[in-house]
Amino acid sequence: MARKQYAIIGIGRFGSSIARTLSEMGFDVLAIDSDEHRVQEVSHIVTQAVVADSTDEEALRAIGLRNFDVVVVAIGEDIQSSILTTLILKEMEIPTVLVKAQNDLHAKVVQRIGADKVIFPERDMGVRVAHHLTSPNVLDYIELSDDYSIVEMKASDSMIGRNLIELNIRARYRCNVMAIKRDNHMNIAPAPEEQLQANDIVVIVGQKHDLIKLEMDMED
Ligand code: ATP
Repeated sequence: MARKQYAIIGIGRFGSSIARTLSEMGFDVLAIDSDEHRVQEVSHIVTQAVVADSTDEEALRAIGLRNFDVVVVAIGEDIQSSILTTLILKEMEIPTVLVKAQNDLHAKVVQRIGADKVIFPERDMGVRVAHHLTSPNVLDYIELSDDYSIVEMKASDSMIGRNLIELNIRARYRCNVMAIKRDNHMNIAPAPEEQLQANDIVVIVGQKHDLIKLEMDMED
């Protein structure tokens, strides 16, 4: 199967971080920005970097964007350009269009016109940092929906040496231990008798308010 072709429109901090990471992973990346300096800055990192205004449909067609599988619209402040760009991309029948949203209204509009995924990097990172600040054992926090999340936390002193039956997380917090990461090995079906060790990382899924209670209780 041919490798997916990625294009990133808007090479600010967010767009350039995606472009750089995909390139480092060995993918072909096309970077587009209306600002020549931004394009120059990434030109040595990505496969191709082009100066273009993404609200200009003809310009996007001339670049050959319609052959791309995934396009990320990482235009931040200029919401109108972000919306228009998304519309053009979906009319060009790009299979997957991801849009960085500035606010809920922006998200709603791009979803309505066919964006396949909307991301809020600043808001999501803010949520993660808040969880890490209040519970330093929390290494990562991913929102699955309005109600459910996954938390990745370092086994606290109150967890070490106890097994999953003793911890009784399912009954006490209505949360599920999905996996235990130990020495770079991920056990995705931990046995109830599994005893947690120092430096284990526990991956737990549950309702947000239950997870917060668990995070607080388990804090050292
Ligand atoms: P970040 O937080 O990721 O740095 P930001 O939210 O500040 O980004 P902007 O700087 O507003 O976002 O936009 C990101 C990039 O998108 C900029 O480099 C800007 O030149 C580019 N951009 C804005 N409008 C267009 C457009 N119509 N066509 C192409 N690029 C555009």
